[in-house]
Amino acid sequence: MSSFNAIRIDKDDSGYRAAYSQFDESELMDGDVTVRVSHSTVNYKDGLAITGKSPVVRRFPMIPGIDFAGVVETSSHKDFKRGDAVVLTGWGVGETHLGGLAEKARVKGDWLVPLPHGLTAAEAMAIGTAGFTAMLAVMALEKQGMTPDRGPVLVTGAAGGVGSVATALLAKAGWRVIASTGRLGEMDFLKFLGAADLIDRAELSSPGRPLGKERWAAAVDCVGSHTLANVLAQTSYEGAVAACGLAQGMDLPTSVAPFILRGVSLLGIDSVMKPKAARLVAWERLARDLDREKLDEISTIIGFSEVIDTAKKILEGKVRGRVIVEID
Ligand code: NDP
Repeated sequence: MSSFNAIRIDKDDSGYRAAYSQFDESELMDGDVTVRVSHSTVNYKDGLAITGKSPVVRRFPMIPGIDFAGVVETSSHKDFKRGDAVVLTGWGVGETHLGGLAEKARVKGDWLVPLPHGLTAAEAMAIGTAGFTAMLAVMALEKQGMTPDRGPVLVTGAAGGVGSVATALLAKAGWRVIASTGRLGEMDFLKFLGAADLIDRAELSSPGRPLGKERWAAAVDCVGSHTLANVLAQTSYEGAVAACGLAQGMDLPTSVAPFILRGVSLLGIDSVMKPKAARLVAWERLARDLDREKLDEISTIIGFSEVIDTAKKILEGKVRGRVIVEID
């Protein structure tokens, strides 16, 4: 197959557009491993890339898709050979390097991890960047010494991709999880994942006081802006908050009060450039700790032809959990 199906993003005098298209293998970018992609995903960032709502794409034409799973076709990298099952998340793929929403991808072997033992390619994509980020957030809280006996943990954006996996992982680890969501209709879903309590995200989304009543020992925040400021203000003494996302906004209108009066720690989470050693640990933990029943409930499978519509929906907050794209 020298030509293959892909989503193509172009930007020129006639504007910014994404369309289903064909690429030729000779157009693939440099890399020492070529992968036959079987599954990809639609993340929030893919929504931004496909709609052009934020300038995440920095090269044109671009194939979006920040995650993929598939099988190695050709490799000159020492760790991979033809037939190996592999997973990729991040590294600028789908932003600066041609991405995973295509039948083929060529990347640096150093960016790939082997498909974790016990996971199928579809399950790995049900996890994808969002689930991987959730695991990094949980690991960051653990490294900070946070344990369930200290009190509840809050997850904001709980019905989204990062939030739903974080909810499942934290509940499994024994935390009492408070899920903050704008979709109270998803109560059954969030309870199934292990949330003990739900709060309406409106409680946290407006400008608040520098310090409030101590309500949780730890938090995973997918939302940023006033929500993160309020989360920090209501975190208990020497608690910690892992900041992953910006669904409400990139700003952080807070004060130093939670840090200097309560010793609260703000932990930054980046999944894109995470070094390989930490990736391998996180994927092993995901394969071990994430209940498959919950992963099934979190994920929806779509066909390749549904990706562009789904990209629009994810930005409207209409996508629950994770979306797996079957490329084949
Ligand atoms: P999703 O779109 O799946 O989930 C985001 C969730 O945030 C929504 O489901 C919704 O949850 C909530 N939300 C949306 N808009 C608002 C708003 N205006 N105010 C408050 N809450 C809102 O995205 P992902 O879970 O994939 O990603 C979540 C965030 O994390 C994004 O900002 C993304 O860019 C970022 N991210 C960062 C990564 C990193 O490496 N740091 C990696 C992956 C993602 P609900 O319906 O429950 O209210």
